[in-house]
Amino acid sequence: MHEWALAEAILASAKQIAKQEHLTAVTEVTIRVGELQQVEPPILRFALKQMSEGTFKGAKYRILKAKSTLKCRVCSTIWQYNPKKLDKATAEAIHFVPEVAHTYIKCPKCSSPDFEIASGRGVWLEDIKGVKAE
Ligand SMILES: [Zn+2]
Repeated sequence: MHEWALAEAILASAKQIAKQEHLTAVTEVTIRVGELQQVEPPILRFALKQMSEGTFKGAKYRILKAKSTLKCRVCSTIWQYNPKKLDKATAEAIHFVPEVAHTYIKCPKCSSPDFEIASGRGVWLEDIKGVKAE
């Protein structure tokens, strides 16, 4: 359900951009999804395809992952979340329940588990390619 609502929001802003750019046909839409965002790319892509109409009919959707940056609330150290450092089961748990991250991830400097997600927690449009009107 979440992915469908997201697809609707993505298409709404993509349509605005396509209009501003005077695109008569959209060929490719690139979307970035934050690593700690609970989004399943295959479901999102399916939802986007299903909702594509008009200028978006036949558009390809590229869904890319964005790195997440974490910031310690105690000492303000900023570091990058790296799922490769975690074992697979932990990385999966974090993917489904971002709050779980606080149990596994600690500040590399002061070891505090109290951090916030500084970036990489969103979904945004990165690029739209298409055919411009003459
Ligand atoms: Zn710290």
